[in-house]
Amino acid sequence: MPLCHIPRSWVEVDLEAIAHNLDIARQALPHHAHLMPVVKAGAYGHGLEPVARRLDRDGISYFGVANVGEARRLQQAGVRTPSFIMGPSFPVEREEIIQRHWSCTISSCEEADHLNRLAALYGKTLTVHLALDSGMGREGFLYPDQEDLGGFIDYLRSLEHLKIEGIMSHSPSADEDYTFTQSQIDLFSGWVRELRSHLDIRYCHLAASAGLLAYEIPEANLARPGLLLYGVAPMASIYDGVLRPTLRLRAHVCLVRELPAGHSISYGRTTQLREKTRVATVGIGYADGWSRSLSGSGVCASIQGKLCPMLGRVTMDQIMIDVTDIADVVSGSIVDLICPEQPITRVAELAGTIPWEIFTGLGPRLPRLYS
Ligand SMILES: *Cc1c(COP(=O)(O)O)cnc(C)c1O
Repeated sequence: MPLCHIPRSWVEVDLEAIAHNLDIARQALPHHAHLMPVVKAGAYGHGLEPVARRLDRDGISYFGVANVGEARRLQQAGVRTPSFIMGPSFPVEREEIIQRHWSCTISSCEEADHLNRLAALYGKTLTVHLALDSGMGREGFLYPDQEDLGGFIDYLRSLEHLKIEGIMSHSPSADEDYTFTQSQIDLFSGWVRELRSHLDIRYCHLAASAGLLAYEIPEANLARPGLLLYGVAPMASIYDGVLRPTLRLRAHVCLVRELPAGHSISYGRTTQLREKTRVATVGIGYADGWSRSLSGSGVCASIQGKLCPMLGRVTMDQIMIDVTDIADVVSGSIVDLICPEQPITRVAELAGTIPWEIFTGLGPRLPRLYS
């Protein structure tokens, strides 16, 4: 008996497009600035190891990851670029950070003291970046008042086993509020100038994709692009036309039937056919990341470059589409859900969310195929 399983839906990833978009990010950077490609969350659904291996070339300072689990996976994949853990760590995770020479942020004295003590215990020096909270409210020290600044700098200097290699912050509104972000940049730049006069700092960074595209950050010499690498600019820019899409979400038609006028489609029977319709059942659902909030949104599937409307609600494993106008659709035909005809920005808009969430919601059931 032949054993055979054909994936109902899958993701095709274009690694060369990601490398191309990294080059675009480099072009958007001021001269001599450094890059930390952000590969957290499985490289935004594209697959952590394959993406990191492809980008693991000269000219990258760090890979930006969210936690020690991701850093460990990069290490096991043989990636040479060091990992920078952007989010806070738990105390029990910190020995490994020190032993494996990863870099991380410090956001509080508790964290800094503990890391310093552990590093001393192992006779090592840990490279850290001082995180400053300039409005994100998620991590980082609050910048001390002028009269406390001397004490803060003395404190940082007393951490003998921490090498404070960088100063970083993060923008909460770079793609939504230009005025706030501009004042945030001024604030950050002022802080950096003051700290730099007392500490030997190699990297200063504030910008994610939007910051990189749309602002000049005078003191910054490193950027942390994520979304941009995956072909989407969070705001209009001169680079819009040159970014390349990095993935295609595809699925197989599993069944094609003709249903009569008046027949209802999917849970809740929100769609009733007005006329006789050829309906294809397609093997993708919300369990794969094809969000249930796309139900009734006007989202389509593309077959042979033609857009076919989705009918009724998204179910866990399947959706139905109207293929009346396409003659030769059969079981096994391929449909595209995210593709040039229906880009991820459109899908995100119809789902009432952002492209970051669509990318990272692409589920583990979808095999990733690389080219
Ligand atoms: C996720 C993240 C980024 C990347 O953001 P994009 O908007 O996807 O470019 C950069 N910096 C930090 C701290 C992040 O958490």
